[in-house]
Amino acid sequence: MPTYRAPRGTRDLLPDERAAFRRLETIASMLARRYGYREIETPMFEDAAVFERGVGAVTDVVEKELFRIARRTEEGDSWALRPEPTAGIVRAYIEHGMQTWPQPVKLTMTGPMFRHDRPQAGRFRQFWQFDIEAIGDPGPAIDAEIIELGRAFYRLAGLDDVEVLLNSIGDAACRPAYIKTLIAYFEPHAAELPALERERLHKNPMRLLDSKDPAMAELNAAAPRISDLLCEPCRIHFAAVREHLEALGITYRIEPGLVRGLDYYTRTAFEFFVPGREGGQQALGGGGRYDGLVELLGGHPTPGIGFGLGLDRIVIALEARAGEARQELEGAPVAVVVGADPAATAVRLKVATDLRAAGIAARADLGRRKLGKQLESAARDRAHFVVIIGDELADGNVQLKDLDAGSQQLVALADLARKLVSGERSHRHGGGDA
Ligand code: AMP
Repeated sequence: MPTYRAPRGTRDLLPDERAAFRRLETIASMLARRYGYREIETPMFEDAAVFERGVGAVTDVVEKELFRIARRTEEGDSWALRPEPTAGIVRAYIEHGMQTWPQPVKLTMTGPMFRHDRPQAGRFRQFWQFDIEAIGDPGPAIDAEIIELGRAFYRLAGLDDVEVLLNSIGDAACRPAYIKTLIAYFEPHAAELPALERERLHKNPMRLLDSKDPAMAELNAAAPRISDLLCEPCRIHFAAVREHLEALGITYRIEPGLVRGLDYYTRTAFEFFVPGREGGQQALGGGGRYDGLVELLGGHPTPGIGFGLGLDRIVIALEARAGEARQELEGAPVAVVVGADPAATAVRLKVATDLRAAGIAARADLGRRKLGKQLESAARDRAHFVVIIGDELADGNVQLKDLDAGSQQLVALADLARKLVSGERSHRHGGGDA
């Protein structure tokens, strides 16, 4: 038993898994650029009030899951690790006067989030999100564009059958009346409600609708739907979002129980699911419109919309598809430099250094072991080529062995980098030797 382990609910991403995350980060960054989103990086912790106000005090995320950092009395501050990116990004939008920039301000950030949740499959205390925010656009067209961007991300990641669940949760004009209707509907059943739901009935009744408690299923199925009670502007907005999605050929399902866990959402709310897993706890990602948030955090009233797509669950979903999407393992060197004279490490190091300076992923075998052992280790590394240094070096030559083809040729040291570049290219494209 090791003395220390990663904290409960966290895990080390070992190189193969880290490579899977890196691949998703690369797709995220490429797509974000393509859609006109620029990168921002906010601190991993904020004044806890940013989340308490911005996410909402009566949400799981703040009530139960916020990772609070011990108060430093001399500063009187209270901090918390970010449980989600939107509140921090909106805080930055206000702090840096981004209201004066051309609107909408389109921002993206990919990084770890922290929730002190009960750990279980697909639910971690540190997890990664690809986040997109468009602040300053009231929609509805951008709502559809963002949903389409989310779907494009999943498709490139290798999940091309992700389902879109959509709802409108109204706004400050129509939600208060809906909440009253909802309380009136649940109140006669208060005694039968599970404890958590009973406690929330008056504080945040919409959360009852996405309760995971099976005891709620029947009551929820018959609950009044906000889509029937939207005010005229919200109804028009929702219809327009749907029209734009249809124009893009995006299929979606209206899900009246989709209310999202965070208080700041208005109107459009959406989630992405692996088909067959809707309704469970395991959304792949989600987002929505937050037209009240900028004002709530002290800025001028400004509409906004965004999403957070969890990377962990994509990696898990891809792994579950029986190796189907197992990528070629990253990090294998193109070439390993080995030598007949085990002691001649300086020359091997020099050759590998020159290859790396020429842009080739190369390593030298720097152990003082026999040539046979060096070759075995190069094969284990999944290198495509070995460069063997022997007596030919006196004439400025080395042996270049193609491990996949099994062929070997004498190559001038001066020509080695060029040969490796063209050899690697034909390897990648399924061609012949160097
Ligand atoms: P949320 O803001 O709760 O809708 O989260 C957005 C996405 O982040 C979810 O759909 C998940 O993919 C991911 N996510 C949220 N919480 C966790 C968690 N505890 N562990 C892993 N992924 C999470």
